[in-house]
Amino acid sequence: MIIPFDCDSVRVTSPYGNRTLNGSKQFHGGYDLVGVGSYDICAAVGGTVVHSRIITDKSNPTWQWGNYVCIKGTDGRLYYYCHMKSRAVVAGQTVKAGDKLGIMGNTGYSFGAHLHFEVREGSKAINPESVLGIPNKAGTYFLPIKTDYERAIEVLHKKGVINTPEYWLKREKIDPYFAQLIGRIAEKI
Ligand SMILES: [Zn+2]
Repeated sequence: MIIPFDCDSVRVTSPYGNRTLNGSKQFHGGYDLVGVGSYDICAAVGGTVVHSRIITDKSNPTWQWGNYVCIKGTDGRLYYYCHMKSRAVVAGQTVKAGDKLGIMGNTGYSFGAHLHFEVREGSKAINPESVLGIPNKAGTYFLPIKTDYERAIEVLHKKGVINTPEYWLKREKIDPYFAQLIGRIAEKI
């Protein structure tokens, strides 16, 4: 499971699909999410920032997203992070999964602070469930409890020391002293 916030738990306040908002039926192209414990929004997937902006001209429907960031993922999909209070990246920048993109907010067509998270393949908004592993249903979801070694690898990955956490996670069983060393390095940096 991937949480696009800097925390271990997230609330889905409005899932993907048909819904009624303020009395009118609409198709909701993404998830509305609230980080539990942190409002710092992080990249779910690495890639390149295509847009980091706010559109105030209301004849352009994109104004509804408020402060938003669009990332072209390394998987070729487009990732939208909308309604932010502030943005921490600029167009053209390369980001890794987990990098901070901004702070959750209530800008644009929004009624309470939340993150509208949308994934597109071409121009089609797809169900984010397959990408995030978070069920398409309102509720609060938690990351599985991690071991000390898994946390240490995560720290080293976030700091850019290692690029392929999947590879290093498999190495824990090889040598217990190796796992302890990784833990000590993660504490020091
Ligand atoms: Zn939404």
